[in-house]
Amino acid sequence: MLKKIKEIAFVLSGKLNANTQSKIIFYHDVHAPNRCHTDMSTPMDLFKQHIDILKAEGYIIVPEIKNPNAEIQINFDDGFKGIYDNKAYFVEHQIRPTVFLAISLIGKEGYLTTSDILELQDLGFIFESHAYAHENLTSFNDKDLHFELQASKQYLEDLLHKEVKEICFPIGYFSNRVLQFCKTAGYTKLYSSLPGNYFNTRNDGLVYRNLVQFSSPSEFKAIINGAMSPFFGWYKRKQYVHPDDKR
Ligand SMILES: [Zn+2]
Repeated sequence: MLKKIKEIAFVLSGKLNANTQSKIIFYHDVHAPNRCHTDMSTPMDLFKQHIDILKAEGYIIVPEIKNPNAEIQINFDDGFKGIYDNKAYFVEHQIRPTVFLAISLIGKEGYLTTSDILELQDLGFIFESHAYAHENLTSFNDKDLHFELQASKQYLEDLLHKEVKEICFPIGYFSNRVLQFCKTAGYTKLYSSLPGNYFNTRNDGLVYRNLVQFSSPSEFKAIINGAMSPFFGWYKRKQYVHPDDKR
């Protein structure tokens, strides 16, 4: 019942806030039946329905958004193994998601190994930083925060043989201090978990993302057309830590 009410609320919000501006959508993993690595994972059947809806609604799935309208970038957080298990689907549909890796999770049970990561990179998957320990960045003192940002960047640049200039905040939390430290460490694009359109009025590199991992087809259709916008303030109150005095 509650699920149905939520779905109706999303659909109504989607109609009220309708827009086809470019957006980032994000997931944690995908899985075929009986091979699920995390309870945050999306069944492949549902993921395929999402992809079909994007196409039907006139969106193009791109590795990086360049245009203000009708483009969708797909993110996966944490580097779970299911994207490797299901890589053939991504290749077949020319989907090149950005996957955010937390260094401490690489190679653990249910997560990508370094060789999985390199194989996926060759197939067009893009890898960027999700910091080192996968913990709330606002909880670190200055010295440890610097390590989280710098050591993860260095590790990935050595592994991937490319520059790593994008980071996604673990668990979504950030603050002015985190933004400043990210910039100093050399990150130019900072992925939050605040919902909204890709192009916004900010000039500090912070981008918004819309979580869709459990969205039913009708919720998903509403979200890609702007239904999350009214919830921005709620998410911001939760994820933007102010003041951040963990120095
Ligand atoms: Zn994460």
